[in-house]
Amino acid sequence: MPLRTVQVDVDDAIFQAALNRATREGKAIGQVIGEFLNQYAQGAAAGAPTSYTVQRGDTLGRIAQKVYGNAHQYPLIQQANNLANPSNIWVGQVLVIPPLDSTPAPKPVTAVPTTSPITTVPVVTPEPTRITPPQPPIQWVGSPNFNQRRSPTDITAIVIHSTANNRLQGVIDWFNNPNAQVSAHYSIGKDGKIVQHVRDTDRAWHAGQSVWKGRNSVNDYSVGIELVNLNDGQDPYPEAQHQANVALCAHLCYIHDIKVDDIMGHLDIALPPGRKSDPRGYDLNRLRREVAAALGES
Ligand SMILES: [Zn+2]
Repeated sequence: MPLRTVQVDVDDAIFQAALNRATREGKAIGQVIGEFLNQYAQGAAAGAPTSYTVQRGDTLGRIAQKVYGNAHQYPLIQQANNLANPSNIWVGQVLVIPPLDSTPAPKPVTAVPTTSPITTVPVVTPEPTRITPPQPPIQWVGSPNFNQRRSPTDITAIVIHSTANNRLQGVIDWFNNPNAQVSAHYSIGKDGKIVQHVRDTDRAWHAGQSVWKGRNSVNDYSVGIELVNLNDGQDPYPEAQHQANVALCAHLCYIHDIKVDDIMGHLDIALPPGRKSDPRGYDLNRLRREVAAALGES
């Protein structure tokens, strides 16, 4: 495969122009760059200008556009004419115009095959990505106690509660009572069983008067999770329940792009301060650490 070394910089207008044409004409980017190079080579062979007289309104970039069809080639003219400052030209000045192919490239060089298209294009290195945590088993039980979020994608926090009772079925029954006027998105039993009462994209009624990081009405933008626990500071949160909570929080953080720092307890957000104590006795710092680990962030 014949190769020729050309100046190709992905930040360059030539690349953007080639990308535009490749998209428009359904061609590979390498094929279009090859076509561009052949056009320039033909222009030089057909007697492309070897000098240029500066005219009113000219800049080196405009001159490069006129003689090469590419304003970004102006450093070639700057170098050939030994111009320390590319804007220091005057009307009537005669500039040497070097051919495109014979001039040392001022930028790093890349080999581009001219006969076969490149099938990949450079991409920006992505931000570090999270590990995809496994989705824990979740049983849908529903609840009539919810309304629509103002924006179904406005989900940026997780609120952890405890139920102040000791039976998962009791929570399900209570949240299924329209007179209760309360709900959460999820509840987790002491054995680690996860049930879902309200869809994430809907607004459950768990936080009440509340504020987090200066934003009121945390129900508007949070997911609520209830842990079955007496909330007396004595009742333990069994490891199976905690691990189910870690898995659920990691899954929710991943699918809604929630920051681990925005997992908090009801006691952290309730207004007025001190109104709520749940989840009393639960280690929220450990939860955040283990969720971060599940997402590959620690
Ligand atoms: Zn609560």
